[in-house]
Amino acid sequence: MKRLYEAVIGLEVHLQLETETKAFCGCSTEFGKSPNSHTCPVCLGFPGSLPVLNEKAFLYSIKVALALNCKIQDTIKFDRKNYYYPDLPKNFQISQFDMPLSYDGFVDVISGGREAGKRVHIKRVHLEEDAGKLIHPSCASYSLVDFNRAGMPLLEIVTEPDINSPEEAYNYLTALKSILQYLRVSDCNMEKGSLRCDANISIRKAGEKELGVKVEVKNMNSFRWVREALSFEIGRQTSLAEAGERIIQETRLWDAQKFVTVSMRSKEEAHDYRYFPEPDLVPFIVDKNIIEDIRKALPELPDARADRFVKDYGLSEYDARVLTGQVDLADYFEECARIYANKKTLANWINGDIAAQMNARNVNILSLGIEPKDLAELLKMIDDQSISGKIAKDVLAEMIETKKRAGEIVSSKGLSQISDKGEIEKTVLDVLAKNERSVSDYKGGKKTAITFLVGQVMKQTRGKANPAMVNDMLKKHLGE
Ligand SMILES: [Zn+2]
Repeated sequence: MKRLYEAVIGLEVHLQLETETKAFCGCSTEFGKSPNSHTCPVCLGFPGSLPVLNEKAFLYSIKVALALNCKIQDTIKFDRKNYYYPDLPKNFQISQFDMPLSYDGFVDVISGGREAGKRVHIKRVHLEEDAGKLIHPSCASYSLVDFNRAGMPLLEIVTEPDINSPEEAYNYLTALKSILQYLRVSDCNMEKGSLRCDANISIRKAGEKELGVKVEVKNMNSFRWVREALSFEIGRQTSLAEAGERIIQETRLWDAQKFVTVSMRSKEEAHDYRYFPEPDLVPFIVDKNIIEDIRKALPELPDARADRFVKDYGLSEYDARVLTGQVDLADYFEECARIYANKKTLANWINGDIAAQMNARNVNILSLGIEPKDLAELLKMIDDQSISGKIAKDVLAEMIETKKRAGEIVSSKGLSQISDKGEIEKTVLDVLAKNERSVSDYKGGKKTAITFLVGQVMKQTRGKANPAMVNDMLKKHLGE
């Protein structure tokens, strides 16, 4: 069945830049300090105080803009966005209005192979400052405000409405985060609020050119919630349209407990921000050489690195993409690859058992605590048949738990693989004698019976017998 309606989605990402000090003053940006300890007359908006642009925040902004293929504005100008809110001490936010520092970029979102990929256009990337944070103690008749976050450097990354499904939105955000992590300009930590996302979504009859009424969804602090919230909104708006009802232009919040979006405010009562140029920060022209230097120093980005992994290491496109999706994981793979020869085995282990261990513990590769040389040692023990692949999985888990090396664990626990012919033969003969039924099944043509017999030998040797040798030996004694 042809879909009657299509979704049109644009995303706005706010990225907190990892600078030592705030965007326009010298206050520390350190997270989790006691409320209002990182404030000064500038970020508290005292009369007469003057902002000074943080050079690092500005250079980081250019770095991100270039990595997202944006054009850089010739003249950089800041504006005041005026609104009155308790978390905004100056009653305005320094932002960029009609001349964002960069515009017209794109991110290629490759998922399911290059052919299935999609280019999402970036409308603008601009630099602004964050607001403070309101705290509403439960059962209290008052609210508290912490201005430590006021004045933190934020980069706003806005897409064109190029996205047509919740899945595409999720894939774009994943690709964007991966690029931002490669640039090392932010910790991109969504739980700490360093990376936040708002979505604009409307629906229109499939094939129509005109955009429908736009709804903004806020408060989604994980990519999964973005995907869920967009799915919900598409359903809600489609039902309204089908029932012939009007879709209202409004801002809605995602309720992650109830899995619904709820109305926050309608745009009809929205603020007029009365933007005007920030008189305390004069417009300036950026030296083209500075921009070119940043462009030249851009790191190899995820797509290019995945291509190189396929070419240099002979990995599958899938393995290469998983490994290069996170910069730390890609670095880890390459460090291991320098000291361990079989790249395919290495990729399988990192994307398989290592990834499973990271997921189970909810940590990244750095916190897992397995040094590249220690993983290489473990894999070499499988290669020279000192241990079986199955035992190696247990050894890996123990390495993570105890921080001991593979060799130590294997020798102290007596896990070395049995590759001694005589010893294996003895167990095989014993198993055959005890399992006459399976033996006659096998001889009667039920070849799968051998799986049971192999299992019995492995059980008696506590998983230590060399499986290939067990198989050969069984077949030999079963008369093949
Ligand atoms: Zn300050």
